[in-house]
Amino acid sequence: MRKAVFPGSFDPLTLGHVDIIYRAIPLFDEIIIAVGVNATKKYMFSLQERMDFIKKTFEKEPKIKVDEYHTLTVDYCKTQDADFILRGLRNPADFEFEKAIAQTNRKLSKIETVFLLTSAENSFISSSIIRDIIRNHGDVSSLVPKAVKINN
Ligand code: ADP
Repeated sequence: MRKAVFPGSFDPLTLGHVDIIYRAIPLFDEIIIAVGVNATKKYMFSLQERMDFIKKTFEKEPKIKVDEYHTLTVDYCKTQDADFILRGLRNPADFEFEKAIAQTNRKLSKIETVFLLTSAENSFISSSIIRDIIRNHGDVSSLVPKAVKINN
């Protein structure tokens, strides 16, 4: 069984993440979207909200599971018997950053990282820009899936 973990903050889930996830569905038997909890990071959306947005968006996709994790990503993958980490690439900056993480993870474990390139129309979208727009009371409805509810 080909099982992948798609780790991230998803603060919040964007149409860029959704693009990568739908394109990965035919490649794997199961994809666990794993919301990482990092005690040193401050999030705009609570863990519960971030998980609910993802669950609602993919409620009709039997291959998608949603979970949280509080450890190293490779350790979490081992607990789930997942052999693959899924990550999205938008641009060369993502590549440089992701390359170091993937090579480190490969050193720590046997887990392979699989990268998918986001489609051109979604490659500019980032959770951090979306959070800036929200802080300034802008409309992000064209950048996030419908399940993402903003209270501002
Ligand atoms: P992290 O805090 O781990 O970077 P994110 O939620 O920001 O978590 O991102 C999770 C994954 O989704 C990363 O692989 C990131 O490159 C990818 N990603 C983020 N935005 C997009 C996008 N617009 N298109 C494709 N992939 C994206």
